[in-house]
Amino acid sequence: MGIRRQLCFLASLVLAIHAAPTLKPEYLMSFYNLVYKPPDSTARQPDPLPDTLKEMQKFFRLKVTGKLDKKTLEVMKKPRCGVPDVAAYSTFGGKPKWQKNKLTYRIVNYTPDMSNAEVDKSIKKALQVWAKVTPLRFTRINNGTADIMISFATRDHGDAQPFDGPQGTLAHAFAPSPSPGIGGDAHFDDDELFTLGSSKGPVLFLVAAHEFGHSLGLSHSDVRGALMFPTYSALLVRCYFEATAIDCAINQLKPGLKSMAQ
Ligand SMILES: [Zn+2]
Ligand SMILES: [Zn+2]
Repeated sequence: MGIRRQLCFLASLVLAIHAAPTLKPEYLMSFYNLVYKPPDSTARQPDPLPDTLKEMQKFFRLKVTGKLDKKTLEVMKKPRCGVPDVAAYSTFGGKPKWQKNKLTYRIVNYTPDMSNAEVDKSIKKALQVWAKVTPLRFTRINNGTADIMISFATRDHGDAQPFDGPQGTLAHAFAPSPSPGIGGDAHFDDDELFTLGSSKGPVLFLVAAHEFGHSLGLSHSDVRGALMFPTYSALLVRCYFEATAIDCAINQLKPGLKSMAQ
């Protein structure tokens, strides 16, 4: 290889390295308990990034390399739930449960994406998924504080977990808590285009059915296609279009229900 060709080769290598996607730690900070500080040449601490990335790759059953490869990046770009995948980091340690079977819910506000009746129907149907497989019963109230307060919000909305605009995080919900407060509540990112059942945007029924799993104390499942899988699943969208949407969602729940019984 002549010196000029060698230089060209080196230059293209440098370009390739620069063109490679750089890992943004935000995803791992939000969902994998990564405590990250920008690299400091004087720091002697080992970089926690590759190990946390491995944890994420393991959860999503990707090749565990500790490097940001194409498939890992694809997963990171998928719309998903805002609740962390690491149970110890989420509010779901200690297997929280409601101490009663009769729960109330309240739809605090609406999204302009759908009619109010469509929102009501989607939420009711999502709760029916859970009523069918647990002893829990849900009653709607229109005033005061319900066990599950349901709201649509954008960006900062008063719970230290701001939403991130379109795409990315779709919603989040809080585990049951014995004291009145945010426990059980479900928030939906209104920068998304929620739908009654369309590929134009996330189907509210499916996102809500997932979030209510958290409201009842479930954490994320690592089974692809399960209702409690953290990314919005194209597999599940098919559920919506089936006549037996609720039963279909319940089938996707099974791995999660197993962990609930443990
Ligand atoms: Zn979730
Ligand atoms: Zn929130």
